[in-house]
Amino acid sequence: MEMLKPKFDAKLKEDKLILKQITRLADSHCHLDLIGKDGIAEALRHNVAFMLTNGTTMESNDKNLSFLDNVHVFVNMGIDPQNAINLNDAHLGALISNIKINAARITGIGEIGLDNTYGEESMNRQRVVFDTLVDLSIKMQKPISVHARGTLDEVIDILHNKGHSRVHLHFFEGDIMQAKKAERLGYMVSIPPLDSARRRRVIKEIAIDNILVESDSPAASKSPQEVISALMMISEVKGISLDRASDIIFDNTRKFFSLSQKNIMMR
Ligand SMILES: [Zn+2]
Repeated sequence: MEMLKPKFDAKLKEDKLILKQITRLADSHCHLDLIGKDGIAEALRHNVAFMLTNGTTMESNDKNLSFLDNVHVFVNMGIDPQNAINLNDAHLGALISNIKINAARITGIGEIGLDNTYGEESMNRQRVVFDTLVDLSIKMQKPISVHARGTLDEVIDILHNKGHSRVHLHFFEGDIMQAKKAERLGYMVSIPPLDSARRRRVIKEIAIDNILVESDSPAASKSPQEVISALMMISEVKGISLDRASDIIFDNTRKFFSLSQKNIMMR
């Protein structure tokens, strides 16, 4: 993959925030299987240093693995709640074997979680799959990227009871109390590029050490480079420069996922 480092050229909302030399964007949660090779190259041209791509189905895990280089592209293997609903025991077994086979080269388990928008009836199966994959991540000592739509309290309780310490709360939509609880447990609160007053309050109330940014592309935003909008929110709320915000979040991401420093292109 080519390694280009042009200056970020996006139009900023206001000229007060001038990007001096953003060269280190880190996307902590996206879906590169749906973005493809050209989209990855495009992100790298827009100063994304690395991305963590997440699996949602068996096929998407395989596609993500085909992009893995552990330099720009790191892979979490998982199954999202929507697809967990119809995952029978044989397929769950196959997923677990596939994760184990790839243990040495993947970064974590994700995305996994619970989503109550698919109805209470589906939650039982979601819980079985989630529970199994959380236990696997603990056994494998891997971080997890967790989807918790409408289920944040339950998810935090489960993970707290299991003593999981490496939790990335993907697309955080909780309130301040939930954010504070996550912070106390050492979890990472992940900010997507969607501005809201609630999100800004959460950013204000928790330590920047517990914050990551993500694009969740191509679902929530178009491409990994859009994490810049989440960084702009953080820089405004925390009263620090965009460069500083991007440096801190970059390091948070690298440390949380234990990404080898030598692999990542530094400034
Ligand atoms: Zn996702």
